[in-house]
Formats: sequence, structure tokens, C-alpha cells
Amino acid sequence: MTFEYAPAPESRSIVSIKPKYGHFINGSFVAGKKHFPTINPATEEILSHIALGGVSDVDKAVMAAQKAYTKTWSKLSGKERGKYLYRIARILQERAREFAVLETLDNGKPIRETRDIDIPLVAAHFFYHAGWADKLDYAGLGHNPKAYGVAGQIIPWNFPLLMLAWKVAPALATGNTVVLKPAETTSLTALLFAEVCQQAELPDGVVNIVTGDGSTGSAIVNHSGIHKIAFTGSTEVGKKIARAIASTDKKATLELGGKGANVVFDDAPVDETVEGIVNGIFFNQGHVCCAGSRLIVQESIAEEIIEKLKVRMAKIRVGDPLDKNTDLGAINSKEQLVKIKELSAIGDAEGAERWSPQCNLSNKGFWFAPTIFTGVTQAHRIAQEEIFGPVLSVLTFRTPQEAMDKANNTPFGLSAGIWSEKGSRIFWASQHLKAGVIWANTFNKFDPASPFGGYKESGWGREGGKHGLAAYLKNGKETGAK
Ligand code: NDP
Repeated sequence: MTFEYAPAPESRSIVSIKPKYGHFINGSFVAGKKHFPTINPATEEILSHIALGGVSDVDKAVMAAQKAYTKTWSKLSGKERGKYLYRIARILQERAREFAVLETLDNGKPIRETRDIDIPLVAAHFFYHAGWADKLDYAGLGHNPKAYGVAGQIIPWNFPLLMLAWKVAPALATGNTVVLKPAETTSLTALLFAEVCQQAELPDGVVNIVTGDGSTGSAIVNHSGIHKIAFTGSTEVGKKIARAIASTDKKATLELGGKGANVVFDDAPVDETVEGIVNGIFFNQGHVCCAGSRLIVQESIAEEIIEKLKVRMAKIRVGDPLDKNTDLGAINSKEQLVKIKELSAIGDAEGAERWSPQCNLSNKGFWFAPTIFTGVTQAHRIAQEEIFGPVLSVLTFRTPQEAMDKANNTPFGLSAGIWSEKGSRIFWASQHLKAGVIWANTFNKFDPASPFGGYKESGWGREGGKHGLAAYLKNGKETGAK
């Protein structure tokens, strides 16, 4: 028996998008000079026009953040700061549906994910860090830990509001003030968050949001009033930031790219593993730095796993991100779609075998069918480079040591997964995998209490948990950040 799904679109009437937005500086929205359109990637409809911040906008935001730090925020007790964070968390929960719909419209990810994953995790981050604000002195973070002052924060488009929460919540909990730049294609939820700051009566200037492009981000990185940088994005831009701050006393955490290995041993529970592989690479259209984008499967079960994976992939519903039945939404931008297509074409040219289920993709918007490449070798570019889309590269192994060697053979070291029913094998493999985050018999599980970050070209430092707090404190015991 086959089931047909009737369309179940979420109403967008809950969101009200202004035709044009300015920056959020010193507690108010201020007009921008130049603007650029932001579109819904599923339809190419222009949603609004976003201000392109320049050096003077960043300067005003930093001045506001410095003033707020000196006059207000640094004078409040941790308990008082915590109250504001709790208030923000509760408002985010109250307005969760509005945020979920807006994020889906602006980013292209399915409403099922924004509603059930992104926004609940955003609120959880604020609740978690609210709880820490008055306990920093007793948390083993050094004697009398002190904030840096103004933190400059630059975030990507794949989890727009969640990355904001990862950055803003620990910064405020530790007593820093913030100048944040959202990604060019996904500024709308950050601007709605600015309204939440107003609603929570957060003191003016504690959170400032300057929208714009890479040049706006660069102005933040190079501003002399900023003492701490937190960046999530590509390794290429991460390297630029590292070079820009090399001769300064600025501290930085960089959360960069990945090419996560999902290692499947021959004793893995097959059906659960297939579900985990799908979640590892097709969650959020594969726009996930820690995606399980390389499947490294034991040769003896590879055929069975791939066969079942194809059956499961054929059931992935690709389409309207606002439809509650949709599993895979739109690719976030035309540029990203071009990149995914280019790297996939390289996979074909290198001799790997491409397979996708039949999908009816819309002519409007940016779409890419869930795809696997089999017959991939370590030398292939699709086994080494971050595709950042719904594309899985499949490699095989014969011995556990070979699996570890293959898994570690990339310039990255962000995430990995292990599938096996033997605890001893899981412990052995987790000691050999060079990855900041290792999941066993699951994938893509996130929690504010758990530190997240990578080795090698995947970045510096950790975000989340106590490690993430330390990165925002001058004498916090550091964890690999500059
Ligand atoms: P970027 O690294 O360019 O963007 C991340 C953020 O940095 C954005 O806010 C961006 O602004 C800003 N930025 C760009 N240039 C600079 C600069 N010189 N100084 C300071 N900030 C800057 O990622 P892209 O969006 O261009 O994506 C490119 C590739 O990066 C993807 O294909 C993917 O492989 C990878 N990526 C990895 C992510 C991760 O989480 N690891 C997240 C996003 C992308 P703007 O948006 O205006 O360009």
C-alpha cells in the first residue's frame, strides 16, 4: 500500500515582513544607505530589502556596544544579566511559530526543521546560558573571570537564528556586549531577534546588528574596538580572519568547514544506520558543517546498505519548505546551487557513480535532488572538499584501521559518526577518529551543554557548554582558541 500526502502548508500570515530594514544600533533601528534584496530561495520572490552596512555603520555599532559595556552591562551582576537572558528565551518560545515561518521563508529549510529543531534549540541556548550567568565565579573558569568587552560576531546562512543564539547567548551571559553580522542571504530572523531585544527591554547597545556582506564582516574583524571575534563560515574566510587578527591581541573562535565521516561497521543495525545516514547528510539540505558527507562503510555490508539507502532516499519528499510534510527544502542561494552542481559534475568526471531518486523539482527557486556517489576514492575531490549540499560520497573499507585512516584523511576534523553494536569497537574508533564531535549510533544531535568545534582546518576553539563560556572570558581556561 502506498500513502499519498495531501499538501499541508503552514500559513505565513503570522509573519509581517517590512519592505525595507535598517541596522539595529543602540536599541533602535537606524536607516541604512544602500540596500540589497533578500529572496525566498524556494520561489525567488523578493521578501525585503536589507541594509548594506559600511565602515561607519560598524563604527557606530561598536561605539554603542562599548558604551553599553562600560555604563551598563559590566555593572550588572550575573544574576541581573541572567534575568534578561531568561526573558529573551521565554519571548523566543512565545514567538516560536513566527520565527520558524520567517526562517523557512528566508532560508529555504523545511518548516518541520525550523519548528522542531532550529527554534527550540535557539530557546534552549538562551535558557542554558541564562543559568550560567550568575555561576561563572564558581565554575572552574579561573579566578574572577572577566568579559572582553565588545564581541564581533559573524554568522553564516545555514542556521541563521541558531548561529545567532550560539554566539549571542554566551557573550551576554559572560558580560560581553555584541556587534553581530548575519549572512547576506538570511538576515530576517536576526532583525526579528532585534525586536525581541527591545521587547525584553535589554539595555540599549548590548546587542547591535549590522547587516551586509563580506565587507561589513571585514569591517567588524578589523575594528580596533572589538576584542573578541566569533566566526562561523567557510574555511577560506576563516583563514582571512586569522590573518587579519594575527598581529593584534584580538581573541577568536573560528567554526569552519567539515567533511564528516560516517563510519559503518559490519555489525551495525542496518535499518537504524540507514536512517542515521539520511539524517547525517540530508538534514538541512546538507548545508551543515558537521554533515556526515562521507559514508565509509565496511565492504561486506556495503551493497545491502546502499540498496536500502536508495529505497529510503526515494521516499524523501523534496518541495515547498512551508509544507509540513517536506523533508528536503530549497538550496539557500543560486551561488550555493552552482557550487553543488560544479562539485557534483567533478564527481562524474572523476569516475564516481551518481544516483538520485526521481524528483519533480520546481523551475522556480533553487533545488537539488538528494544524491549519492558510489565508487568514490580518497583522491576524489568529492571525498575531500565540502560540497555543503545534499550529496553523499560513499567509500568502503575492509579493516577497522583502514576505516580510521580513510576517515581522518581530509584537511578537516569537525565531526564523525560510528555505527556498531559493540561498545568496545565504538570506544576504540572514537579514540582514533580526529574529530571534535563524534556521535555513536546517531548523528547530528545538538545540545547547548555540549562543546562543539573542530581540529585542523575545521577551526579554533569550542562553542557551547563550559568550554564555550571560557572563550568569552579573559582569564577563562581556554580551549584551543587564539
Ligand atoms: P562565508 O564564509 O563567505 O560566509 C560566512 C559569513 O562571513 C557571512 O556572514 C559572510 O558575509 C561573512 N564574510 C564573508 N567574507 C568575509 C570577510 N572577508 N570577513 C569577514 N566576514 C566575511 O560563507 P559563504 O556563505 O560564502 O559560503 C561559502 C562556502 O562556505 C559554502 O559553500 C560552504 O562550503 C561553506 N560554509 C560553511 C559553513 C559552516 O558552518 N562551516 C557555513 C556557511 C558556509 P556574506 O554572507 O555577506 O558573504
